[in-house]
Amino acid sequence: MEKIFSKLMTIIFAASLALFIMLGVFVIVLGPKRTESAIKALFKLSNYEEGYQRIYPVASKEILPPDSGNEPSVLGAEYLREVRDISSVPPFIVPSSGTIPVSAFLYTGPLSEGKHEGIDIWTSVNGSGIDGGNKGNPVYAACSGEVTYIWEANGDVSIRCDTLDSIYTEVIPSLEIKTLYGHMADQFSNEVYINVALGQRVEQGDLIGFQGNRCYWSLQNRVVHLHFSVYDVSVQPQKPLDPEPYIGVSCTTLNQDFVAGVK
Ligand SMILES: [Zn+2]
Repeated sequence: MEKIFSKLMTIIFAASLALFIMLGVFVIVLGPKRTESAIKALFKLSNYEEGYQRIYPVASKEILPPDSGNEPSVLGAEYLREVRDISSVPPFIVPSSGTIPVSAFLYTGPLSEGKHEGIDIWTSVNGSGIDGGNKGNPVYAACSGEVTYIWEANGDVSIRCDTLDSIYTEVIPSLEIKTLYGHMADQFSNEVYINVALGQRVEQGDLIGFQGNRCYWSLQNRVVHLHFSVYDVSVQPQKPLDPEPYIGVSCTTLNQDFVAGVK
């Protein structure tokens, strides 16, 4: 009798131990509080470091989450990888289709330094619009936001963009942006191609007008095109920025193709 009891106790003890170990493995490997060091320790215990390297490649060690102290957390690493994946998609869309066939129409820097603080996307390389007319390709809101300025004399519209997601902090200079779209009118017939009103809320991709040839200050500028600028409005005076990281297309390359984006 005593022997049977002792055997039973041994079986119960072994079963409990196995259950406890399984539970531990479950919590460490699959539980929410797993850390890289805990998993590494587990693999070391089971003499299977190669497996650890396969699941958590060495590269994950350089990715430290914010406020992590010394220990790289696997959850933090996953979070940062996710942030990088999302932020590799530019926050804005390309506002209009066309090309930049003349170098003076590329982005060069602030107007205050005598430079061109935006890009001019031409509907066609000969400077004319659709079917040789004065109206060009459609213009879409590059960002969601509010129409804060309209100046018909130059066919201008400004959109104050919604504050961009902080996941973009590392890849763009500012999260507080205003976009400017210019020349959306006909210099000769005075037709205005602007489709939005002051104070209107627009969503990214909404049609806001058409490329035109009206320019208030320069005759040379009267080709059918869209002037597009991106400004950092978190500083005073507002600072023109290279639109490239915002739209994902080079704004300093001659004959660059621009294809209006759809989100
Ligand atoms: Zn321009």
